[in-house]
Amino acid sequence: ATPTALMVGTGRAAKMGILIKNGEVLERVNDIDTVVFDKTGTITVGKPAVTDIIGDADQVLRVAASLEAASEHPLAAAITARATKDKRDIPVAADFKAVEGKGVQATVDGKQAFVGNTKLLQDYQISADLQSKMVELQNEAKTVVLVGRAGAVIGLIAIQDAPKSTSKEAIASLHARGLKTVMLTGDNERVARAIADQVGIDDVVADVLPGDKADHIKQLQETNKVAFVGDGINDAPALTQADVGIAMGSGTDIAIESGGIVLVKNDLRDVDTALALSKKTFNRIK
Ligand code: ADP
Ligand code: MG
Repeated sequence: ATPTALMVGTGRAAKMGILIKNGEVLERVNDIDTVVFDKTGTITVGKPAVTDIIGDADQVLRVAASLEAASEHPLAAAITARATKDKRDIPVAADFKAVEGKGVQATVDGKQAFVGNTKLLQDYQISADLQSKMVELQNEAKTVVLVGRAGAVIGLIAIQDAPKSTSKEAIASLHARGLKTVMLTGDNERVARAIADQVGIDDVVADVLPGDKADHIKQLQETNKVAFVGDGINDAPALTQADVGIAMGSGTDIAIESGGIVLVKNDLRDVDTALALSKKTFNRIK
C-alpha cells in the first residue's frame, strides 16, 4: 500500500475509536489467522461481584475482606465491596503478601490466613462437600476463591463477571472470516470453559500463571499468525509478543503502551473492524 493509503486506513480507524500505532501494524493485521483473548476485562466486563458465600458467611467474608483490603486484584475489589455493603467490621491484616496468579496471604487476628485458588492452598484439605460445591459454582461460570485460616479452609466465595454484551457477536464475526479464537486466562479451566461457551470461543487455555501468557502466544506462533487482545498488567508481555497486540482502552497504562492497536470503545467487535480496514487497505491497493 502507498503511504497515503496507510494514512487513510489508520485515519479511518482512529475516527472509529481504533488507534493503530503505524502502517506496519495495520499491515500485520491482514495476516492474522488466530485471535487470542484474555478473559477478565477483555471478554468480560471486568466488574466482578460476589454471588455466593459458602461456610459461616460472617467469618468467611470478614477474613477474606481483611486479606483483600491491601490487594489491587479485581477479585479483591469484589470481596471488599461486598463486605462494605454488608457493613462488616474488617480486622486490619498484617504481613500482607500477594502471590501472583494464586491469591493473597496475611496474618488476620493473629493467625495465618489465605484467600486464593487451589494452587495457593495446595497443602490444605478441602472437604468433599466444599470440593463439590466449588465445582458446581465453577460450572456456573463463577470464579471461586478458597478462604483459609490457621491451617483450615473455612469457606468459599464465588465471584461472577459477566461477558460484555457484544463479545458473542464479536467472536462470531471472527469465525465468519475463518479465524480461530482462543481464551488465555489465569482462571480455572471450568470457569474459563463456561465463559468460552457463553460467547462461542473455540479453545481454552486456563490456569496460566501471569508470567507464562507470552510463552503460550509464542507457542501458537510456531504455526499461526497471532493477535492477542488484553487489558491487564500481566497481559503486557503477551501483547508485545503477539504479531499484533490489541489493548483495551480501559486497560492498564502498560497494556496500552504494549499494544500496537488500542480499542478506545472497549468493544471486541472492533477487532473485526480493524481486520476489515486492513483488508481494504492492503488488498485493494498493491
Ligand atoms: P486473570 O488471567 O483472570 O487476570 P490472574 O492471573 O490475575 O487471572 O489470577 C488468576 C487466579 O488467581 C484468580 O482466578 C484467582 O483464583 C487467583 N487470585 C489472584 N489474585 C487473587 C486475589 N487477590 N484474591 C483471590 N484470588 C486471587
Ligand atoms: Mg484482564
